[in-house]
Amino acid sequence: MFKFLSREPLHDPLAAPKPGAVNEVKTTTCYMCACRCGIRVHLRDGELRYIDGNPNHPLNQGVICAKGSAGIMKQVSPARLTQPLLRKPGSERGAGEFEPISWDHAFELLTERLRKIRASDPKKFAIFTGRDQMQALTGLFARQFGTPNYAAHGGFCSVNMAAGMIYTVGGSFWEFGGPDLERAKLFVMIGTAEDHHSNPMKIALANFKRAGGRFISINPVRTGYSAIADEWIPIKPGTDGALFMALLHELIANDLIDHAFLKRFTNAPQLVVLDDCARQGLFAFDPNPEKGPPGDGRHPHNKLVWDKASGRILNAYPEGIADGCDPALEGHYELADGTKVAPSFQRLRERVASCTPEWAAAITGIDADRIRRLAREMGDTALKQAFELPIPWTDAWGTRHPTTSARPVAFHAMRGLAAHSNGFQTVRALAVLMSVLGTIDAPGGFRHKAPYPRHIVPNYRAFNSPEMIQPNTPLNAAPLGFPANPDELAINPDGSPIRIDHAFSWEHPLSAHGLMHNVITNAAKGDPYRIDTLLIFMANMAWNSSMNTMAVREMLNRQDEAGEYMIPFLVVCDAFQSETVAFADLVLPDTTYLERHDVMSMLDRPISEFDGPVDSVRVPVLPVTGQCKPFQEVLIELASRLKFPAFTTEQGTRKFKDYPEFVVNFQPQPGIGFLMGWRGADGDKQLRGEPNPNQWAMYAKNDCVFQYHLPETMHYMRNWNREYLDFAKDKGWRQKNDPVQLAIYSDTLQSFRLAAQGKSAGRQPPEHLRERIETYFDPLPFWYAPLEEAATDLAAYPLNAITQRPMAMYHSWDSQNAWLRQIHSHNYLQVNPLTARAAGIEDGGWCWVESQWGQVRCMIRYSEAVEPGTVWTWNAIGKADGAWQLAPGADEARKGFLLNHLISEELPFAGSASKTISNSDPVTGQAGWYDVRVRIRRAEPEEPEVTSPQIATVPAAPGVRGHAARVLTYFAGRKTS
Ligand code: SF4
Repeated sequence: MFKFLSREPLHDPLAAPKPGAVNEVKTTTCYMCACRCGIRVHLRDGELRYIDGNPNHPLNQGVICAKGSAGIMKQVSPARLTQPLLRKPGSERGAGEFEPISWDHAFELLTERLRKIRASDPKKFAIFTGRDQMQALTGLFARQFGTPNYAAHGGFCSVNMAAGMIYTVGGSFWEFGGPDLERAKLFVMIGTAEDHHSNPMKIALANFKRAGGRFISINPVRTGYSAIADEWIPIKPGTDGALFMALLHELIANDLIDHAFLKRFTNAPQLVVLDDCARQGLFAFDPNPEKGPPGDGRHPHNKLVWDKASGRILNAYPEGIADGCDPALEGHYELADGTKVAPSFQRLRERVASCTPEWAAAITGIDADRIRRLAREMGDTALKQAFELPIPWTDAWGTRHPTTSARPVAFHAMRGLAAHSNGFQTVRALAVLMSVLGTIDAPGGFRHKAPYPRHIVPNYRAFNSPEMIQPNTPLNAAPLGFPANPDELAINPDGSPIRIDHAFSWEHPLSAHGLMHNVITNAAKGDPYRIDTLLIFMANMAWNSSMNTMAVREMLNRQDEAGEYMIPFLVVCDAFQSETVAFADLVLPDTTYLERHDVMSMLDRPISEFDGPVDSVRVPVLPVTGQCKPFQEVLIELASRLKFPAFTTEQGTRKFKDYPEFVVNFQPQPGIGFLMGWRGADGDKQLRGEPNPNQWAMYAKNDCVFQYHLPETMHYMRNWNREYLDFAKDKGWRQKNDPVQLAIYSDTLQSFRLAAQGKSAGRQPPEHLRERIETYFDPLPFWYAPLEEAATDLAAYPLNAITQRPMAMYHSWDSQNAWLRQIHSHNYLQVNPLTARAAGIEDGGWCWVESQWGQVRCMIRYSEAVEPGTVWTWNAIGKADGAWQLAPGADEARKGFLLNHLISEELPFAGSASKTISNSDPVTGQAGWYDVRVRIRRAEPEEPEVTSPQIATVPAAPGVRGHAARVLTYFAGRKTS
């Protein structure tokens, strides 16, 4: 009898280990999603048995999710690439016809090509990466190469969340800060699915609910965390900004604001110039540099306030906060020279005056009375249930505060706010709302995580001229950053973009994370110039990571009149045979997270906790599969062969043998490296100290994580906490130790607006972009309809369509995972029954979803957990047939689908049919994924019951691991390959 038909168990987990078997437990860091939990990998005779959460890890405290424990199935994935591949001469891109080559050959080929580009025109090399966790390294590589054409995936993920918050409060959610659920009484979560900060959020929410906290979820869809919310407030996508403006209206109208906090810790009382002049809308300031604390070099801190107590204009600091002073938040005043001014809070008050709950109700779909109740609940909880913690602290101006004031209203928001073309101003509105309640870095409110808070604006973005791109020369500054004014844009003298993705140009000035979603489109058009080589790491641009997937696939193959590819050489580095691999000229097989070294660095995206910085590493717990090579090692090798200065000794020899050696020894500043634990020659220093050759061993011995506990006096109010500011500067987290005043009003944005209005000297936008800059660079938050709506017949396409990641899968990675596929092997379009029935489509029936850009055939599932004007689905479950080594005809290909086909990466510009512009936020370049409008109709009965579009089956790449059937019956102890 076949064994699987017998009653005998296939595997007895309680059986005694085989005599002589070696059982081991190794710790490392999960990478089944981006949350970076600590895990224990259990091995027998060196082979994976199972993975569980590490109870000693500060982030997840032993908790593991379905994805984390299914890492074993990723390790043995049939889609694993195992050797470098070169596209067969004469074969079509996309056909997936390759021949194996050696690493030596791959390196020679790539080095030769890159050397020529670097010696002639470095910007012709573009390197863009997906959801990697090594941007400190990839950014350094691009900078040393001398190309500005570098970014990671942030532009199509959540740059609006990062930039909107950082430009307002100096920090953001997730890695940079988050809700203090330990002390909050009310928690408001907006636009968040269940994937960001996943396990820590689950732990915190469970404790919060048990302690009696009230949880409100505002989201068009009630899934994930929202399922345990005490109240679900459905909202129409892209309208959260209107809700926040109405909440601000109500809080201000009912005086539910933290006056003392606003006056001391924000720019709310600071006087804005009202006259029509070159400084209109900027803060008035005392030109005497001796007055006030030092500025950050770009925006002087010696601004002015109106003191109600003395009836005089005073410097905001230190006079304006001295005992007996009472800076005005309202009114209109005149400076000694007759300049008309008003406190910035007065401008905010005027701005929200018309944003009534009734106004917002018509936009958001939320009843006006419910908005009023929500505002009152937030204000009452923050101010009337406020309490003091017996933690003394000293502020930046030397005032000792005997206690720390708690404001027990916590917010959390993510991509639902970010992925709209109005997302930056929406996030600004949320950050201002949090600020007027006094919740910033207060107990029970929003708390920063080191190295945040940063300056507002965080750092100099010195790369601003084409002259700075020179052959064989590193860039003078990092390609990414946070512009503070038009002088910091990456533009040519005529105002046109320097970068291939048009980031940091007048089209999207504050594009802090770049615009990866426009790289292929622009490169295929040669706009603003033709590139030579595009290196893509870990991003599935030919499938779920692109808007307008089918068009992008065509662009990857586009040729000029001479038959040359518009993107002449495409290098794809990935661990798996994704849909994008088929388009590569050169494929570099990456390792899995269990096979390599990795760092979650303070130079990049650490895993800090509220009470102190935390960094962590991955160490190899398994041998490398086949000829796979960690991408980090590929970069170190290329950087060494190309003799980048940072990777080469004075004698011209190679500086770092490999990536681990680089991590230990590379120091951007003396004593500061990629890792902050166990520094110093003997490993006895922390945070700062000379390199320690045994640093990796120390991390490996200590669960791969280093946590530093700040003293309690540095736990809160860190924007203004003298002890913390000095400490952070000393540890290299900040350039200066001056306070970070919250930007209720953004003079940074105003500096761009003044340029657009032609009022300021210096750089001005090209004519066709003046109105755009003037409109969206408003120094106060405001709500506007997503830009796609202006280009859409809303009557014809009445529904919003959005996606989110399922709890059990992370992007495209997990539809290949034999265990996780058993949870979802395809997706449905989730539709409110009212909407579906009105279209005559039954539950489980086939339908067409149509936007003005494309159409998709898929199955519908009725759901009461979505507001009737919205349809949604899980993203990235749909796959191309045969890709990821799924069997031809697998559910993922025949029943799974992508909404991406309905979304355009470009919009007509200002109604012009011939001119286009990225379908992105005009401030940051954040991809407007969630702006698309659709309609649904029933599929005809005679239509095939298969999703559309379908594409030709992707053939297996040479050396791809395969053996899907074996993987489905995987047991430790039996070899799968
Ligand atoms: S939440 Fe993410 S990092 Fe944590 S265990 Fe799950 S997959 Fe791994």
